[in-house]
Amino acid sequence: MEQVPTPFGHTPYGKVWLVGAGPGDPDLLTLRAARLIMQAKVIVHDGLVDPAILALASPKARLISVAKSRSRHTLQQDEINALLVSEALAGRDVVRLKGGDPFIFGRGGEEAEACRAAGVAVEVVPGISAAIGAAAAAQMPLTHRRSASIVSFVAGQCKGLTEQDWTGLAGKGRTLVIYMGLATADAIAEKLMADGLAPDVPVAVVENATRPEMRVLRSPLAGLGQLVSRHKVKSPALIVIGEVAAQPADAPLAALALEAIQ
Ligand code: SAH
Repeated sequence: MEQVPTPFGHTPYGKVWLVGAGPGDPDLLTLRAARLIMQAKVIVHDGLVDPAILALASPKARLISVAKSRSRHTLQQDEINALLVSEALAGRDVVRLKGGDPFIFGRGGEEAEACRAAGVAVEVVPGISAAIGAAAAAQMPLTHRRSASIVSFVAGQCKGLTEQDWTGLAGKGRTLVIYMGLATADAIAEKLMADGLAPDVPVAVVENATRPEMRVLRSPLAGLGQLVSRHKVKSPALIVIGEVAAQPADAPLAALALEAIQ
């Protein structure tokens, strides 16, 4: 669709801002994100965006929740894209507020593509991704001069676990961070051990990172599934695999997880 320039060189359309809301703690918003949230008239937000962040919005703002359920992922994403485009074409600026960073497993890429395809201007505001926030809050460096110089972020669920080739992503000198891996925690441990990872490689699960209710649970790889089920870990949570998952050094290994490999 053609954009029609106004005398000021702008289009009469609104603009879409893809804004990272960070992992939860409102203090971890960028200044740009905070400013945009406070000024927005229309905010389209994920389920993961913390209520304390939405509370920064003007009372006059229209807040539209597009929280996804796992089973209706694809269809809903099309609807979200269409919503952003139609609001902007109607002349309204839209803040599309997404958990963490918009371009890390946030489908922000697809939303930006949909906007560009419709001739709608789009701008991206980065956010602190869950892995970065969790590492800081748990004091677990994702790289460490002594133990890891490579870090990978993978999705545990997005496209089907079996289709994903993770060979070489975990192991000595490496940290693997798994997003959306709770439901498949058991299968993830199996997959990595089948790829040759030792059953006693340290694993940490960080639930609700940077929020007051944050939990950090640890186990050897072989005990991952049990750790998640026995502690009833709920989304959102990340799984960190590698030597750094045992950091900080005085962090206790969950006793039950030790049982799991005996
Ligand atoms: N764009 C987001 C990720 C979206 S995918 C980002 O950059 O962080 C959603 C997944 O992110 C969740 O299933 C969980 O694995 C992870 N996640 C998001 N917020 C989290 C938090 N506060 N604590 C732990 N994991 C979180």
